[in-house]
Amino acid sequence: MITVMKFGGTSVGSAEALKRVANIVANKEGEKVVVVSAMSGITNFLVSVVDNPMTDLDGILDQFAEKHLSTAAQLFEGETLEEFRTEFEARMTGLRAAIDADRDDPFYGDAVVSQGERFSSLLLAYVLRSMGHRSVALTSEDAGIVAVGQPLSGSADLLNTATGMTMKVKPLLSMGVIPIITGFYGVNAQKKPLTFGRGGSDYSAAVVANAIDADMLEIWTDVDGFMSADPRIIPDAVKIDEMNFGEAAELAYFGAKVLHPRTIEPVRLKHIPLKVKNSFRPDEPGTLIHHLRKSKNELLRSVAAKTDLSIITISSAEIAYRPAMVARIIEKIAEINVIIYSISTSLSTVAFLVHNNDVKMTLRQLNGLSGGDIERIDVKNNVALICAVGDNLLDKCGVSGDIFSAVKEAEANVEMISEGASDVSLNFVVPMNKVVEVVKILHDKYIGVIE
Ligand code: ADP
Ligand code: ASP
Ligand code: MG
Repeated sequence: MITVMKFGGTSVGSAEALKRVANIVANKEGEKVVVVSAMSGITNFLVSVVDNPMTDLDGILDQFAEKHLSTAAQLFEGETLEEFRTEFEARMTGLRAAIDADRDDPFYGDAVVSQGERFSSLLLAYVLRSMGHRSVALTSEDAGIVAVGQPLSGSADLLNTATGMTMKVKPLLSMGVIPIITGFYGVNAQKKPLTFGRGGSDYSAAVVANAIDADMLEIWTDVDGFMSADPRIIPDAVKIDEMNFGEAAELAYFGAKVLHPRTIEPVRLKHIPLKVKNSFRPDEPGTLIHHLRKSKNELLRSVAAKTDLSIITISSAEIAYRPAMVARIIEKIAEINVIIYSISTSLSTVAFLVHNNDVKMTLRQLNGLSGGDIERIDVKNNVALICAVGDNLLDKCGVSGDIFSAVKEAEANVEMISEGASDVSLNFVVPMNKVVEVVKILHDKYIGVIE
C-alpha cells in the first residue's frame, strides 16, 4: 500500500504544526511519500520580492532565514540541528542566486516563488529523522517532476514524471525511506523551475500519486474536509462525507480553494481515491473523493464561486450561421493561452467568460481579426461564476427554477448560464457585488437531503 500525503502551508506553518504532521506521517501504515507546501506566508513573501525589487533585501532574507531556523531549533537539536544548518545554508545560497538572476528571464518568477517549498521539505525531513525515521528531502528536480507550459502556469508531463520518479523515488520506498518532496513546481525542458499556479502543491501531490501508482492520495489541510461552501463565507457550511471525481473537479475548477483546480485529473486517470483531511484534527474522517458514491437525493451538495471574471461579447450579423468565424475567434484566443470559463452564442453574438486580467490581451488578439467581420465588442468586468453541484441536478424537475429564484431574491441578474460535466453542476454568472449574497441564499435554502 502506497499513500501520497500532501500537507499545506498552515499544516507546516509552525514548529507545533510540523510536529503534528510528523506524527501523522510516522503513524501511517505502509509506504508513504510526502509532498509539502511552503510554510504559510512564505510564498506570498516571495511573490512580493518578484513584484517589487526590495532595497533592504539582506535584512528581509535574514528574517526569512530566522523564521525557518528558529522553527528548526524548536524541533531538534545537537548533531541533527548542525546537519540541518549545513543543508539550510546551501538552500539559502540557492535562494539568493535565484533572486539575483536575470529578471528578464521569462521563468525568473517561477525560480523565485518556488523556493519556499525547499525549506519546508527540509524541516519536515529533519523532524522525522530526529524521531528516528529514515527520511530525505527531495526537490522536484531530485524527484523527477517534469513540467511544461507558460511561466507561472505549468502542467505536469505525466509520462516523463512517471519515468523519472520510478528511477528516483521508488527505490527509496523499498529501502524504508520517507521522501519529502517539494510541491508547487516541476522542471521544464530548460531544466528551470516551472510552477503550477498558486495552490499548486495539491496538483503536485496528485501528479506524484499518478507517477508512482499510489493506492491513495491524502490532502491534509486546515479544515475537516470538502465542505458545502467556503467556510470563510458560510460559517455554517457542512462537511461532505463522500463525493465523486466529477463533482470535486467542477467545484475545484470553479473556485473551491480547498483543492487546486487541476488536482483531480491525475488521480482520476489511475482510479486513485483521494481524501481531504484536517491535519489539526487527524482523527476526523475527512472527505473521500472517488469514482462512485451513493446517491443521497440532495438538491445541492456544494456551491463554489470563481470571482474576478469578465464577459467579452462579440457582435456580428448572423454569426450563428458562420461557424468558421466563431472558430477563428476561438483560435485567436487559444493562441494566447487564455482560459475560457464559459461560452454562449445567439444569432448575432458570441460571449466568452475570461479572467479580468486576460481581457486586455484578448481584446488585442481580437483586434487582429480581419476588419469588417466584427461589428462590436463589449466587455462587462467584475462578474463571478457560481457553480452549484448536486446529484443528477439537471435531471431534476424544477431545480433550475429553485436556483434562479434564489438569485432573484438577491436582486441579481443572471448574465450567462452553462451546464457542468455529467449532469452534476449548473453554472451561472452574476455581478461580483452579488456573489456572497447569492451563495448565502443558495446555501441556506437548498443544501441538504430532500426528505
Ligand atoms: P492549504 O494551505 O492546506 O493548501 P488552502 O488555504 O489552500 O489550504 O485551502 C484550504 C481552505 O480552502 C480552507 O481553509 C477554506 O477556507 C477554503 N475553502 C474554500 N472552499 C472550500 C470548500 N468547499 N471546502 C473546504 N474548504 C474550502
Ligand atoms: N506555496 C504555494 C502557494 O502558496 C503552493 C501551495 O501552497 O500549494 O501557492
Ligand atoms: Mg491549497
